[in-house]
Amino acid sequence: MAAIYDRVALIGLGLIASSMAHAMRAEGLAGEIVGTARSAETRETVSEMGFCDRVTDTAAEAVEGADLVVLAIPVGAMNPVAREIGPHLKPGATVTDVGSVKRAVIDAVAPHLPEGVHFIPGHPLAGTEHSGPKSGFAELFENRFTILVPQEDVPEAEVGKLTRFWQGMGANVELMDVEHHDLVLAVTSHTPHLIAYTMVGVADDLRRVTDSEVIKYSAAGFRDFTRIAASDPTMWRDVFLNNKEATLEILGRFTEELFALQRAIRTGNGELLFDYFTRTRAIRRGIVEAGQDTDAPNFGRGGSKS
Ligand code: NAP
Repeated sequence: MAAIYDRVALIGLGLIASSMAHAMRAEGLAGEIVGTARSAETRETVSEMGFCDRVTDTAAEAVEGADLVVLAIPVGAMNPVAREIGPHLKPGATVTDVGSVKRAVIDAVAPHLPEGVHFIPGHPLAGTEHSGPKSGFAELFENRFTILVPQEDVPEAEVGKLTRFWQGMGANVELMDVEHHDLVLAVTSHTPHLIAYTMVGVADDLRRVTDSEVIKYSAAGFRDFTRIAASDPTMWRDVFLNNKEATLEILGRFTEELFALQRAIRTGNGELLFDYFTRTRAIRRGIVEAGQDTDAPNFGRGGSKS
């Protein structure tokens, strides 16, 4: 495929940015990939790994002359980084990000972008519990959705270009309104993570009492929670601090449902529990049918205790 952007600057070189670099390379989507990260250690690792054509010491240097700038850093870091790069952006460049929340990123970044720069916030719905430059792989975005939230005044042609870029990396692209994005993600990603963190925390408290039985007899349900709860602490702290309203709204609903189920257990209302679990099972079937997960037992991981 012909390059879609002549020069792409990746700010932050962790899981998402390194996966993008591998995918861009595999598909020839960028003429040149320039990268930078906060620490000298990450910059050195990436120089050795070679998935960027150039690694610069600062974000300001990285964005010089770039046609596409991707902010692939924790949500809480967006504001200072946008302030740093603002004066160095090329007129006509597109700035995007991959942050897991969108309203807070727009508020943090938009004020620092000069006129003539196109701001198209984005969010690839793809990830793993691993982080850092060594965790990336070219197939991460394949058949996953990337949501774009174009800002006012961005020409359609620029949105189309970024759409083709993500499609080139294997993603299905959807445009969405910012508030809708933050609410949908609070339901599908943010609140489930908080619940997983809580469940693993509760089990950890118990472990102190039962002396490692929680790990020894760790059943599939709990192990799935521990995978999610192993996700990057900085990233997830920033998600909750920056998608406060939507997460609290969904948590409120979650608590109400939990109380209803708790009451059904107390009163022996098997019918309610059965109907509830039948409904949720159908949701899982829908996700598998939409090609968003595997139908293999235990996610294809082989034998399990459950
Ligand atoms: P990651 O693997 O932890 O990498 C984060 C990168 O950002 C690192 O290169 C890090 O530099 C740099 N960074 C951290 N703090 C910084 C700061 N204060 N200033 C400048 N740079 C800083 O993270 P990731 O998983 O790629 O996530 C990046 C973004 O993608 C986040 O906004 C996250 O919400 C979003 N996202 C993540 C997932 C997922 O599942 N992981 C999925 C979709 C979207 P050093 O290495 O030098 O510390």
